[in-house]
Amino acid sequence: MQADIARVLISQDRIARRVKELAAQITADYAKRDSHGSGITIVPVMTGALVFCGDLMRQMPIAMKIGLILVSSYPGASVKAQDTQVLSQRLGDLRGRTVLLIDDILDSGGTIKRVVPILKDLGAATVRTCVLLRKDREAAKSVAVDYVGFDIADEFVVGYGLDFNDYYRNLPDIVTLTAEAMEQAAGSESRSSP
Ligand code: 5GP
Ligand code: MG
Repeated sequence: MQADIARVLISQDRIARRVKELAAQITADYAKRDSHGSGITIVPVMTGALVFCGDLMRQMPIAMKIGLILVSSYPGASVKAQDTQVLSQRLGDLRGRTVLLIDDILDSGGTIKRVVPILKDLGAATVRTCVLLRKDREAAKSVAVDYVGFDIADEFVVGYGLDFNDYYRNLPDIVTLTAEAMEQAAGSESRSSP
């Protein structure tokens, strides 16, 4: 896998430092605005936000439930967003709750625009949004999110939860891939990778 990496964009140390800052900020905002006792429901958009959410939530010492939603926007070996599809959800009872939606990366904005109304329709009192990465493109900047980890250039990245054809999610750093690695991963068994 190491040979597949073209460039380390954000190292695991930088990610860890930023995740800690984000967790502190979100926790402080929660204490200021919504501390009516029942805590939050944290909702990672699966599968990409799995790693980020796991690290973030363990730095947030507040009452918390987890809801899950599985979304597909970059099926298989594609590097361009397609239509966002909700594949399944297990969100629990969101009525009156403070919900924190977590995604790995804000790109076309399709995921956030699709999922936030679903959470509101289920009765969430408040929906806040947090993305680890935001791409430098008009579509991403035009979608309002509450918390952003890093602004990055408009290029395709993997690692720390983000995949290419379902591979590379377990890389600890956020990286770009070599052209050869992308060709190879695209050629291997192709399946949907939400
Ligand atoms: P959006 O719906 O904002 O276009 O894109 C969000 C989803 O697309 C992310 O949750 C992620 O799954 C996928 N995505 C967007 N950009 C990238 C990227 O650079 N690399 C990878 N691996 N996935 C991306
Ligand atoms: Mg995703």
